[in-house]
Amino acid sequence: MGELDEQSGWGFETRAVHVGQAPDPTSGAVVPPISLSTTFAQDGVGNHKGFEYSRSGNPTRSALETCVASLERAAHGLAFASGLAAEDNIMRLLKQGDRVLLGNDAYGGTFRLISKVWSPLGFPWTAVDLTNVDTLAAQWLPDTRLVWLETPTNPLLTCIDIESIAELAHARGALVVVDNTFATPYLQQPLRFGADIVVHSATKYLGGHSDVVGGFVALDDDDLAEQIRFTQNAAGAVPAPFDCYLLLRGIKTLALRMDRHCANARAVVDLLVGHPAVDRVLYPQLPDHPGHAAAAKQMRDFGGMVSFTMRTEAAALDVVTHTELFTLAESLGAVESLIEHPGRMTHASAAGSPLEVPDSLVRLSVGIESSADLVADLEQALDRFV
Ligand SMILES: *Cc1c(COP(=O)(O)O)cnc(C)c1O
Repeated sequence: MGELDEQSGWGFETRAVHVGQAPDPTSGAVVPPISLSTTFAQDGVGNHKGFEYSRSGNPTRSALETCVASLERAAHGLAFASGLAAEDNIMRLLKQGDRVLLGNDAYGGTFRLISKVWSPLGFPWTAVDLTNVDTLAAQWLPDTRLVWLETPTNPLLTCIDIESIAELAHARGALVVVDNTFATPYLQQPLRFGADIVVHSATKYLGGHSDVVGGFVALDDDDLAEQIRFTQNAAGAVPAPFDCYLLLRGIKTLALRMDRHCANARAVVDLLVGHPAVDRVLYPQLPDHPGHAAAAKQMRDFGGMVSFTMRTEAAALDVVTHTELFTLAESLGAVESLIEHPGRMTHASAAGSPLEVPDSLVRLSVGIESSADLVADLEQALDRFV
């Protein structure tokens, strides 16, 4: 009990470095060993030290699960081989016929998983505008069992008031899943605002170095956690021990990195807002951003993702190919800055659907480089249009 009390009293940065990662009792190693063993010796039949077979449980994975659960202030944490594997395991909580309400600005891969994999199996879904809880209440369909929301969303950075959606959903017998990939537990802890389940693509800010794919689920409810732990083992989409180690290593600097991502994003936004070639800047800190109030209520800071529109698709395609430091690539949330064209890249599979994004949109994942270098790089790409 002493240790748990101490851990829950620790600040975020302390928990990121230490929870689940006490020195190894056999060697004193300060870094949790990467436990590559697939099987674990038993003293007698069924008499083991908590681990039998690495798909079912692995010491390095346990360290990661304990740490991230603590960062989300969640009772339970489960690690997966990717963000989509984590999402797929959440979908397995549903019964055939249960409807999913999906924010109309969802991550393209989430949209594909729900509309192309689960929907044909008999799981209906509807894309909805989650920014207005009254509209949602009016459109609510009685077979809804899950509301799936992202905040801030990808790529439009819409922010959704988690608390008001959770109140509505709970009154009508539905669960609320929040994809917390963009904010990370450092900037936002959705369970505090009534979310039932938090999901992460750990590939992004949690890992933070573009070198590991992973996913995470955090939740408080014991029964739901038990069901997800069952499918984690039964369906087997678990991360490798080495990947768990990389995530633990990345998470130690999460707070430092996020502070820098936010500060650099602000510098970039200042440039974009004042630049004549830019049409609209989407960043939740801007007072005219539709999600500003929700973001200010539930986030510590506004994050490292910035989107903007140019006047034409041609201009957007030109800008994304004329930066040097901002690398043209999918993905986000790592130390290096990335630029992309969602309409043709990350969100191409949403074309023609309710989740289609503007073709003049550019998305930036602002890294932790020198802000002056990032601003100068974008400026020279944008100046080609003035
Ligand atoms: C990348 C991403 C995912 C999917 O995660 P993977 O690790 O790529 O499987 C889900 N949600 C959001 C918001 C993402 O950015």
